[in-house]
Amino acid sequence: MPNDELFRELLAARVEHARGQLARLSGEIREVTLAHRDTPADDEHDPEGSTVTLERERAVALLAGVKAQLIELQDAQARLAHGTFGICERCGQPVPVERLEVRPQARHCVGCAGIRARGH
Ligand SMILES: [Zn+2]
Repeated sequence: MPNDELFRELLAARVEHARGQLARLSGEIREVTLAHRDTPADDEHDPEGSTVTLERERAVALLAGVKAQLIELQDAQARLAHGTFGICERCGQPVPVERLEVRPQARHCVGCAGIRARGH
């Protein structure tokens, strides 16, 4: 069985990190949006404008990724609380600790994750 205490700390640290990223990206998006609003909107003829849009899109995409990660992490915390953490959701076998240390939000063992990735 995985060391619950260790993973509780690991997950808490990752959640905190994700929340920090979330706050930073939200701030970045707000800044870019506000800066963009000050300049006249003329994306087609204003190369600066399209750069701002790209920057904002990049930050929005990153933000979506971090949000999804945060949900996964919080889900892993719930599994930890319910005693189902570290058990493959597909085959019911324990997920190797080495894998959980790298990816504590992993729901599947290496074999099942591979099967899923191939779309079977
Ligand atoms: Zn499995």
